[in-house]
Amino acid sequence: MFNVAIDGPAGAGKSTIAKMVAKKMNLIYVDTGSMYRAMALSCIRKGINPQEHVKVAEEIKDLIISLEYENGMQQVILNGENVNSYIRTEEVGNMTSAIATYKEVRDKLVAIQRQIAEEKDVIMDGRDIGTCVLKDAPVKIYLTADARTRAQRRYKELVQKGEQCDIDIIEKDIKDRDYRDMHREISPLKKAEDAVVIDSSNMTIEEVVDNISDIIEKKKEKMKG
Ligand code: C5P
Repeated sequence: MFNVAIDGPAGAGKSTIAKMVAKKMNLIYVDTGSMYRAMALSCIRKGINPQEHVKVAEEIKDLIISLEYENGMQQVILNGENVNSYIRTEEVGNMTSAIATYKEVRDKLVAIQRQIAEEKDVIMDGRDIGTCVLKDAPVKIYLTADARTRAQRRYKELVQKGEQCDIDIIEKDIKDRDYRDMHREISPLKKAEDAVVIDSSNMTIEEVVDNISDIIEKKKEKMKG
């Protein structure tokens, strides 16, 4: 299989970019953050506090998380329910980065993600794809942008959805989430040694997509011989 790993902090544009590269390069897009978000949603629904490690581990033990595709769009299925429309809130995002620090949560999802990548050519985005989930991926990208730019992008997205928000709070949330993701004990967010770094702060979406597509094409040619 030919797999592409994309990691980076929240709001760097990973999912937008990965979806477009997937279309262009004929890959299946896998958004691993949505799987962690589905687990967090389940904990929120049960009123579990993110600090309650034992309760979180118990709650997620028997959860069944799978992915389906509708018109090429990934849908996350939690115990048979399509939860796509409930997982994109700031509340779920913050709960997610808290429970994503737990080994039980990561072990369960990493196993599912590896299995998907064994069966299909994927472009997978997350925090630990190049460093843990797909260590042998032939193409690894570390996509980043400065925190203010990332906050502005998230702000625009939320306003478009009609949600009330404050850009300074979003920037603080993004920084807190980055801190937690980069400093956790298990699989912290960091650039894989062999990843190509792309800083999208001053790039258009198209420029980033072209850049990554070029890297993929060159790698494929090289692998052919
Ligand atoms: O990418 P997204 O913002 O949807 O991810 C939500 C949270 O899920 C991240 O802040 C991170 O804590 C966690 N996550 C992770 N490992 C991944 C993907 C997401 O820890 N591979």
